[in-house]
Amino acid sequence: MNRATLLPDRIFDSVKGEMIENHAVIIEGDRIAAVVAAGAATDDVTDLSGHTLLPGLIDVHTHLAAPLDDGQGFAALVQRSGAQDALIGVKHAAETLAAGFTTVRDIGPWRAFTDVALKGAIEAGWVRGPRMACAGAFVTCPGGGGDITGLAVDVDEVLPRELRFGVVSGIDQMRSTVREILGRGADFIKVLATGAVLTSGTSPGAPEFTEDELRAAVETAADAGTYVAAHAHGTEGIKRAVRAGVRSVEHASMLDDEAIDLMVEAGTYLVADLYDGDYIMEVGPTLGYSDEVMRKTRETTDVQREGFAKAIRAGVKLAFGSDAGVIPHGTQGRQFALYVKHGLSPSQTIQSATRWAAELMGWENQIGSISPGAYADFVAVPGDPSADMTLLEGELGVMKSGRWIQEPVAT
Ligand SMILES: [Zn+2]
Repeated sequence: MNRATLLPDRIFDSVKGEMIENHAVIIEGDRIAAVVAAGAATDDVTDLSGHTLLPGLIDVHTHLAAPLDDGQGFAALVQRSGAQDALIGVKHAAETLAAGFTTVRDIGPWRAFTDVALKGAIEAGWVRGPRMACAGAFVTCPGGGGDITGLAVDVDEVLPRELRFGVVSGIDQMRSTVREILGRGADFIKVLATGAVLTSGTSPGAPEFTEDELRAAVETAADAGTYVAAHAHGTEGIKRAVRAGVRSVEHASMLDDEAIDLMVEAGTYLVADLYDGDYIMEVGPTLGYSDEVMRKTRETTDVQREGFAKAIRAGVKLAFGSDAGVIPHGTQGRQFALYVKHGLSPSQTIQSATRWAAELMGWENQIGSISPGAYADFVAVPGDPSADMTLLEGELGVMKSGRWIQEPVAT
């Protein structure tokens, strides 16, 4: 078994949220064997002076298996095969890993189970990418934020099942579809509890499932030992989702005090994609995003940031999620500085993409901290990210399962 010792300037303790100096990390095979005093490090020492060692980063909201959203609506979805979507996912997986994200929670492809196929290829070692937990398909109401909207009725009829796999209405259909998605290899369930910014004809503020429908999803997922992540922009949709028992609320653009209290009480995670608004405002007009999408982006950007700051102060649990797929894969590091700008400390910001994200996924014994027994997944940052968050946007050394995917940068 290969054995190596990493000796950086400092190590991030993601459980306590603090930097530790004068320590080394011993790796055996694909796992962390021990964290020891620097002086005790003897065999095969990799000198990482000038570097900070973080646990491999985690993004809990990505969409790897499709081209980037190009603002052109849904025509492109029926011009591509599932194979094309999965194969471009190979490129996105490599870009994500190179940016230091050794794990993602992939929160739904348009074409069902292309994410599960990509995950299988990574686990088999055929392609290089992060560890993945997959949603398999969007669970959405007919005409909802995760449906293909705006088609003529007769075209609707002939849409491939893969593009409509998770479209449900009513409690019985909710239960049977959730079972089927999990049965086909998804790790958790993604529901769209409100309309979406990028789905034309849907309103981010409008709730799209009843609380009972959402509860049926949560109960059915729980029977299978897993949980529900709810896309929700509008206040009412957020509250229904939290009351129904979802594990995370994605976007959470329009939080009010009651919604925040409910989340604190229930221990619901907030997954806030703060960089998206800036990105769409910047590139949307060039890409050809519609006036409707640009308006909805304006309506959800600043208010989301105000809600985020309030939620943090109130003690809502947080996990780092970027919505990569809207923003280019590998650029999600730009969100770190935004989290600090809107109220998190640098240490908390790094925790949100390590320990806290791992806890949301239920994988905290495997990833997200530099602890004996966890996977040897690391990011070697040239410098101290707690003093300068923008270092996490730059070039990083990346190790996954005890192997350098990308060598540490010379300092
Ligand atoms: Zn998303």
